[in-house]
Amino acid sequence: MPELLDVRHLVKHFPVRRGLLGRRNAKVHAVDDVSFSLAENETLGLVGESGCGKSTTGFSILRLIEPTGGEVRFQGQNILMLDPEPLRRLRRKMQIVFQDPFGSLNPRLTVERIVEEPLLNHEALSAAARRVRVKETLEMVGLLPEHLTRFPHEFSGGQRQRICVARALVLRPKLVVGDEPVSALDVSVRAQVLNLLVELQRRLNLSYLFISHDLAVIRYVSHRVGVMYLGQIVELADVKAIYARPLHPYTRALLSAVPVPDPRRSRQRILIKGDVPSPIDPPPGCRFHPRCPEVMPVCLEQAPLTRAAELNHLVRCHLYDRHDVWNSPFPASTSDALNPSTQGGSA
Ligand code: SF4
Repeated sequence: MPELLDVRHLVKHFPVRRGLLGRRNAKVHAVDDVSFSLAENETLGLVGESGCGKSTTGFSILRLIEPTGGEVRFQGQNILMLDPEPLRRLRRKMQIVFQDPFGSLNPRLTVERIVEEPLLNHEALSAAARRVRVKETLEMVGLLPEHLTRFPHEFSGGQRQRICVARALVLRPKLVVGDEPVSALDVSVRAQVLNLLVELQRRLNLSYLFISHDLAVIRYVSHRVGVMYLGQIVELADVKAIYARPLHPYTRALLSAVPVPDPRRSRQRILIKGDVPSPIDPPPGCRFHPRCPEVMPVCLEQAPLTRAAELNHLVRCHLYDRHDVWNSPFPASTSDALNPSTQGGSA
């Protein structure tokens, strides 16, 4: 599949003001050296505990917040170098669906105005052509023409999220970032919205960066999965590999907590001790070392590098130090990443 998005060594730090004079003497390491690629028609799921940096990664990629460093290449173009006008033009290809369908819709606007707004900002269409596009898009997400004149408060949570999806798709983007798009919905409608997103991907050739803390949701929608911990991706692989053979101790612990839907089978729970450390002062060495059940002396001093532990399976952990380093320059595809001829170093 052709590459759509390459994220290379993305960094986002937030300054923290302390003291009477409000001096900046600390920073929150929200995202630290995050790299991945996303192909056309692919869904990459980003999963991790609350506060691990997955939403900040999504917002940084769209430049809804300005990254501190790194590169974000969309269709080969580094969008972090773009001036406001070219960025505005590119934004029509990159859209977002937020978690909260209640808060992200203007209660004073009708559905038609809400879904039409991106067209007014980005496309020179006549009023009649805009109405046709809005109607088509509403039909795609399972809403009816009579919904055009209604206001957000007249809809259920699932229908409001469908309006948000329609607003994101009305410009026919290539990439959609879903920031916990089903987390605020009742369980009964969650599956319907997920199925809708999967169907729309096929129909419109979309790529999704799908952000969620819910391992079951990520498994259902993703082709590949990146597991984040304290601002870093610690494991990245095809969805089947992650769920069948998790390699990183953090991923193993996360998956061990997922209930098995079979009373005859049980899974040994791996307990992680302590809380997630503060991102203002992340632990030295491996960031997971204060909580890791497999910690070794080297983990306290040296940060592990990302390595190709198996085919298409990257992991950031000293347990895999004998494997090849996955290194810059960032490869054109995951399979190239694992080709030794493109590696910049080895263990
Ligand atoms: Fe655990 Fe060490 Fe691996 Fe970190 S590098 S996850 S502390 S074994």
